[in-house]
Amino acid sequence: MPDRILVTRSSMPDIDEYIEEIRPIWESHWLTNMGPKHEQLKKELKEYLKVPNIELLVNGHMALEMTIQAMGLKGDVITTPFTFVSTTHAIVRSGLHPVFCDVNPDDYTIDTDKLEKALTVDTCAIMPVHVYGNICNIEAVDDFAGKHGLKVIYDAAHTFGETYKGKGVGSFGDASCFSFHATKVFNTIEGGCVCFKDDSITELLYAVKDFGFDDPEDAGCIGGNAKMNEFCAAMGLCNLRHIDDDIARRKAVYERYNEHLDGVKGIKLNHVRAGVGSNYSYYPIVIDPVEFGIDRDEVFRILSEKGIMTRRYFYPATNAMRCYKGMFDPEDTPVASRISKQVLTLPIYPDLELETVDKICEMMVCH
Ligand SMILES: *Cc1c(COP(=O)(O)O)cnc(C)c1O
Repeated sequence: MPDRILVTRSSMPDIDEYIEEIRPIWESHWLTNMGPKHEQLKKELKEYLKVPNIELLVNGHMALEMTIQAMGLKGDVITTPFTFVSTTHAIVRSGLHPVFCDVNPDDYTIDTDKLEKALTVDTCAIMPVHVYGNICNIEAVDDFAGKHGLKVIYDAAHTFGETYKGKGVGSFGDASCFSFHATKVFNTIEGGCVCFKDDSITELLYAVKDFGFDDPEDAGCIGGNAKMNEFCAAMGLCNLRHIDDDIARRKAVYERYNEHLDGVKGIKLNHVRAGVGSNYSYYPIVIDPVEFGIDRDEVFRILSEKGIMTRRYFYPATNAMRCYKGMFDPEDTPVASRISKQVLTLPIYPDLELETVDKICEMMVCH
């Protein structure tokens, strides 16, 4: 076992495979601005993700912001605070107001029984998060959105390649934003995409990521710059060839943890719901300090002293972050607040040795 085990390890192709992929870029000198690698990756991802429409972007965060802009949203957005801070920042940075709905204690996704309470006269959209690859209660979100005429944008950063009842997870709601960051199941170094239902926003999305240019010289809207470059697209083309194998190896790691930790008093495991084709992106555990004997922070400390880097993810809840001090009350979402203080994600990546998983579990259980 190496001296230090990180919580994740970026998937990379063989260097020769990448060199072959980028060689044509030297011949063409076409580095960015929707070149051939970008177009090829877009085509391959549309198929792999089983989605009707897709646009590639520079990262997952800008996918959220650009989608909000392309949809012309204004007012209040119902979302959850148990997420990576990007979800909340994207709403606030777009001039919208987040209204926090709590998560359910089973899979940490939006508690759809509490949506009604979060509704205001200004609500324009819901932005739920498929946390750790756990897919939200899509039927309930759809029903609620339909009843109140709201847009649904899923933060699907954790769900690359997942399916729900055989359909690509990115085909639900009005749009789903994926992240291809280095730490995610599929990476383009930095990158992301938005998958969306209504192809009438295709041109607008294409324009907003390129300064608003909908014509070679004249900008039709006030866009930003969020294009994916050719080197990132080439990385994506290589990684996509190995993704099924990567996910299968993650699954083996995930199941090995389950074998050790299932039934351990005070540790709540994550469960893959029926109908979900999981990508095994994270291995979260929720630690009950009374039942387990020590709290989450103590487990984090003990493991890190032994060179095992776990992550308090997500902590703090976004409505408890310093930049939002005084704007929200974290106790309005007590489940998110509690889970953020008890959750720990354990190392998981395709080439993590199963023997290392055995040792990590041993260290945890024999504290
Ligand atoms: C990673 C992540 C993002 C941001 O994606 P980037 O590609 O890093 O910009 C947004 N939301 C969630 C839930 C994430 O995990």
